[in-house]
Amino acid sequence: MNILVINCGSSSLKFQLIDSDSEQVKAKGLCERIGIDGSRLVYTPAGKDKIVNETPMPDHSKAVSLVLEALTDPENGVISDLSEIGAIGHRVVHGGEKFSTSVVIDDAVLEAVKECNDLAPLHNPANLIGIAACTKLMPGVPQVAVFDTAFHQTMPEKAYLYGLPYRYYTEHKVRRYGFHGTSHSYVSGRTAEILGVPADKLKVIVCHLGNGASVSAVMNGKCVDTSMGLTPLEGMIMGTRSGDMDPAIIEYIANTEKLSLSEVMKVLNKESGVFGLSGGLSSDFRDLEKAYNEGKVEGKRAFEAYSYRVAKYIGAYTAAMNGTDAIVFTAGVGENDPLIRSMICDYLGYLGVSIDEEANKKRGEEVVISTKDSKVSVLVVPTNEELAIARETVRLVGGA
Ligand code: ADP
Repeated sequence: MNILVINCGSSSLKFQLIDSDSEQVKAKGLCERIGIDGSRLVYTPAGKDKIVNETPMPDHSKAVSLVLEALTDPENGVISDLSEIGAIGHRVVHGGEKFSTSVVIDDAVLEAVKECNDLAPLHNPANLIGIAACTKLMPGVPQVAVFDTAFHQTMPEKAYLYGLPYRYYTEHKVRRYGFHGTSHSYVSGRTAEILGVPADKLKVIVCHLGNGASVSAVMNGKCVDTSMGLTPLEGMIMGTRSGDMDPAIIEYIANTEKLSLSEVMKVLNKESGVFGLSGGLSSDFRDLEKAYNEGKVEGKRAFEAYSYRVAKYIGAYTAAMNGTDAIVFTAGVGENDPLIRSMICDYLGYLGVSIDEEANKKRGEEVVISTKDSKVSVLVVPTNEELAIARETVRLVGGA
């Protein structure tokens, strides 16, 4: 069955068409600048060069219709008719406490997702618009919502509650939710397969280090803690997000820099992280690694603070699970940056972690990077959220 996987942002739409039998990607692409001047569709059919179509996209509905036109195009399309799309899987960012698993979308689901809008005001409305556009253009095709937060719903209360007045939780839903759940679920499951150990007998720490970054503790196949919180701002030092800090800094910076609350929040989300630490050099680890290797202080500062923070969380989650069997690196930085992996693992001697430096040189592939005598397995497992969404979609609508 062909599954169309859709990930809608406020002004973007990423998609992949995946054959669920072979699990091959037939085509993928991205609509950028939806609703803004200069919108364009970048479409890549498997085995061919990308095709760029610069055309106005006033809304997501137009973007979806252009995607469907590209997929069925007589020359560069990969299907001859829309009826060849068996189901659609949507990434939905926030499922609150309402969704602990993926669901087939119906009116009740749409209503429940809408009720989570206040928790993810930039993302959930865009996800809903994407679903509505698909309903309009492909009526009758089953659609599934796969939530970023769902995998983390197994966290115990002691892990998800903040030390705040309890009524903030009961009245305003203030708690840790966690994000990147589809990735943490896929990567921890794949780790169990690679190690040949049943997932329900394994303690895994997943380090999803991309532009956004989160670490999770997965015990016996279930998430018991994760570093992102009510929003994706908490936890790791990220590309441009601050991660953990003293909350009193917000008032202090507002006063000293004469900024409003929303201006401070913009700084914490867009101008902090390794970008901020490197004095605005870059949020991209390729640039920072180059700076580090050239001995530039900006690169060193960013890499050291970043890797120290990840190592601290690995220590915390080892304590939370009373040990760990595996530590896994994934996402853009985790998959591709041997230096960061090595700097993080340098802190883990107390766990009996020993790294095979040759294996650690690999970039972007599935590989065990610990030595045979390492007490904890350390792996790189490339994440594949689109495939995970396609699998969830097939599981719920039934493959044919
Ligand atoms: P997201 O999905 O959160 O946008 P990704 O998981 O795609 O992020 O990660 C993107 C980041 O990965 C880039 O900003 C860059 O820092 C890092 N990255 C990508 N390729 C490399 C590489 N070859 N070496 C080091 N870092 C890389």
